[in-house]
Amino acid sequence: MEKSLIILKPDCMQRKLVGQVISRLENVGLKPTACKIIQLDDDLLKEHYAHLIRLPFFPEIVEFMTSTPVMVMIFEGENAVERIRNILGPTDSQKAPAGTIRGDFGLDKMCNIAHASDNKDSAEKEIARFFR
Ligand code: ADP
Repeated sequence: MEKSLIILKPDCMQRKLVGQVISRLENVGLKPTACKIIQLDDDLLKEHYAHLIRLPFFPEIVEFMTSTPVMVMIFEGENAVERIRNILGPTDSQKAPAGTIRGDFGLDKMCNIAHASDNKDSAEKEIARFFR
């Protein structure tokens, strides 16, 4: 069984979409095995989004991601990492196909509802980071 780390972002929390996003993952047989609500901070985001630190809009990402508490979850299932990325859709919600979480609920590139690990390696690192 593979595991993936999911973060339900502030837009998901504020717009009361938590239940719907979890249902989409449960409906395809994926199982939540860990869950907590936390307030992200600068240090954790610099680790989690290390690949984005040098981008000009990184401070805006930090501002957005720290604007409310987020729900951090582990979902488990066969081929979970790839399947969840497919269900989530691409980063830019405007380009995400209908039927994907970002396509149906996301607003733009920043407010795109959820994070999901993008490969098995990062899933392991992210799970260790958020569930020490
Ligand atoms: P993903 O979340 O699809 O794995 P990235 O790792 O590239 O995408 O980016 C992390 C997060 O940073 C995105 O989910 C989004 O919230 C934000 N982001 C990425 N690119 C942009 C952008 N061009 N403008 C605004 N926010 C962005």
